[in-house]
Amino acid sequence: MTQSLKGQVALVTGASSGIGFGVAEALANAGASVAINYHSHAESAEKLAASIEKTGRQAFAIGADVSDEAEIDAMFDAVKKRFGTVDIVVANSGLQKDASFVDMTLADWNTVMNVNLAGQFLTAQRAVREFLRRGPRPVSKALGKIICMSSVHEVIPWAGHVNYAASKGGIQMMMKSLAQEVAPHRIRVNAIAPGAIRTPINRDAWDSKEALEKLLKLVPYGRIGEIDDIGRAAVWLASDESDYVVGTTLYVDGGMTLYPGFADNG
Ligand code: NAD
Repeated sequence: MTQSLKGQVALVTGASSGIGFGVAEALANAGASVAINYHSHAESAEKLAASIEKTGRQAFAIGADVSDEAEIDAMFDAVKKRFGTVDIVVANSGLQKDASFVDMTLADWNTVMNVNLAGQFLTAQRAVREFLRRGPRPVSKALGKIICMSSVHEVIPWAGHVNYAASKGGIQMMMKSLAQEVAPHRIRVNAIAPGAIRTPINRDAWDSKEALEKLLKLVPYGRIGEIDDIGRAAVWLASDESDYVVGTTLYVDGGMTLYPGFADNG
């Protein structure tokens, strides 16, 4: 892999498992120093940091609940203390609290909105403040880069997951509005919308042959996504290779958003 992120500092939220883990590893492989946020599974985040450090890069694990303003501030302070500043922030943390609409509790709704949407708002806001405070650095053409982890469900409705789909739809317009607001400062804000990626969040959808067959009917490209697929997309969006890419959602979904049901039935 090219060292397109050499000399840069990245923070990835929710990086103790799944997509965040893969993104943190990929950014480190591309030369970045990485702060690995976790909310649970500290040991997995610590292990990832140790394995990155073994390759000669810098990394450390930092606990924080992204829906808690004070914890977000403490996390950014810790990153600044360790690395001086941050150049790339990946707002990745997210969760599901699934229920049919009639049974969904306000607590289910609020938890998903607080982590998935307010969590990305707080993470992105602290990132923008730090980019503006610190000013340009010779490591990148942009003042800073923010990547919001969205989902194909920012555009595909999802019965039984109204809170999750609403949070991802919210991320789409938050990302675009923020991108419009801060682009004049040369801050690039974009999103990645993964399709079905093999992680703990959707284990039920891939851990049996029957479930996987059913899932693959929704994926024209015919395979489930892996965390590396998202890692490579994040490296590109974080690097100067994508310097003119602003306010865009990159769908990394094997064609899930192509309405595969219409392929032989339209
Ligand atoms: P995951 O469950 O492995 O990872 C989610 C991460 O978010 C975990 O590390 C978890 O600890 C963290 N998290 C949860 N609550 C948190 C909080 N309050 N504060 C900080 N961190 C918190 O699942 P994943 O699939 O890797 O999901 C990562 C992101 O990708 C999520 O935003 C998810 O919506 C999105 N996504 C995943 C898929 C997929 O197919 N796996 C598809 C589309 C979008």
